[in-house]
Amino acid sequence: MDFEFNNEQRDIQKAVREFAEAEMSREYMLELDRTSTYPADLLKKACDLGFLCIDIPEKYGGVGYGLTEKAIVFEELCRMGAGVGMSLGGSCFGLKVLLNSGTEEQKNRILPRACSGEGLPFSGAFTEPDKGTDIVTFPLGTTAVRKGGKYIINGTKTFITHADISKYVILLCQTDTNAKPSYKGQTTFILENPLDKPGYTVSSFEKMGWQTSHTTQISFSDFELPAENIVGKENQGFYNVMSFLTEFRIETAAAGVGMAQGVYEKAVNYAKTREAFGQKIGKFQSISHKIADMATKIETARLLLYKAAAIFDTKHDVPPHISSMAKWYGARMAVEVADDAMEIFGGHGYIIENDVARFYRDTRMLELVEGTREAQKNTIAASILGRLD
Ligand SMILES: Cc1cc2nc3c(=O)[nH]c(=O)nc-3n(C[C@H](O)[C@H](O)[C@H](O)COP(=O)(O)OP(=O)(O)OC[C@H]3O[C@@H](n4cnc5c(N)ncnc54)[C@H](O)[C@@H]3O)c2cc1C
Repeated sequence: MDFEFNNEQRDIQKAVREFAEAEMSREYMLELDRTSTYPADLLKKACDLGFLCIDIPEKYGGVGYGLTEKAIVFEELCRMGAGVGMSLGGSCFGLKVLLNSGTEEQKNRILPRACSGEGLPFSGAFTEPDKGTDIVTFPLGTTAVRKGGKYIINGTKTFITHADISKYVILLCQTDTNAKPSYKGQTTFILENPLDKPGYTVSSFEKMGWQTSHTTQISFSDFELPAENIVGKENQGFYNVMSFLTEFRIETAAAGVGMAQGVYEKAVNYAKTREAFGQKIGKFQSISHKIADMATKIETARLLLYKAAAIFDTKHDVPPHISSMAKWYGARMAVEVADDAMEIFGGHGYIIENDVARFYRDTRMLELVEGTREAQKNTIAASILGRLD
């Protein structure tokens, strides 16, 4: 058992940290947040350096490292950028469905474009207005009906990140409405440049945080898709999405650790410099213990994160409850650490110009995406208790 990064991983960490510190100044992050701007220029620079597709095999245009190295990248980007880091990492959401389940032809054609940044953002469209956590009890409302060499898509997907600017969308549809259980009738497809095609309409939501990402709703009206755009086998889509989410949750755990680390460092600095009652506030035990709590929680979440990533890299798989533990704890911990930082900053933390407010808003999203904290706990509990009926 080794709790240290190897030399290569340390070099990657140093390179990403230098990139993030040079390119993601607090003033720039604040400006992107205030103007709700998607960080397209940063995305291009991060792709040029191979950061965003670091875990895609070299033969498809990536760098060929594993999930551990991807987590290092994501942690460092989120440490400086909070939601901006998540917008960069989230620009590859769904990409691994293609890598894991797509044909060689699809992967050779699409992945190099994605790795260069030209084919990003990528989106994954799974959630529907009345089907979020539960996509298994009833058939999906978004259907794909085969007609000759095409599928005709109708329905609505909601809360889809970046679908108004995405070059590619992985879409989960119901292809067999009579399947029992219904999730055995779901199929994944890849949409290529859907914005240019008829029958694809996107609207946007305003959010309380994560302003640098776009959160959208897609309406499909007789949208036509060539049959060869199936990803994986027909009626196996649910399994493609579940195994992708199990993996991606580890990246979200990395975002949680990175955001928490970033806001914690700000709180430590503030505790060392802000004075009250004639002393640095860090001398008050209530403040110093908060700092100790924050540091311990971050380290705990980091251990869970890199344990999950190491298991994945060794076995090319990870038990769902391990990834759920890393995601649930990483996200909850980030929310708690941002809340403690807000407390340490007092009223100053609540002012928009202050970074803490941004971290506070951006961490909250981590608990909602890719399954809520209740959904993660259900997965963890099921692995312990099994079926009790
Ligand atoms: C900013 C943002 C970006 C997103 N990006 C994407 C994206 O790119 N692609 C995509 O497909 N989706 C995306 N989502 C959707 C996200 O994954 C869902 O919001 C999430 O899965 C929860 O679904 P829901 O909102 O419908 O909540 P619901 O499923 O309606 O849940 C409501 C409440 O009930 C609880 N609950 C539900 N079932 C159970 C249960 N069995 N046991 C205990 N509690 C339960 C939930 O935990 C929650 O507290 C995004 C969401 C947000 C907010």
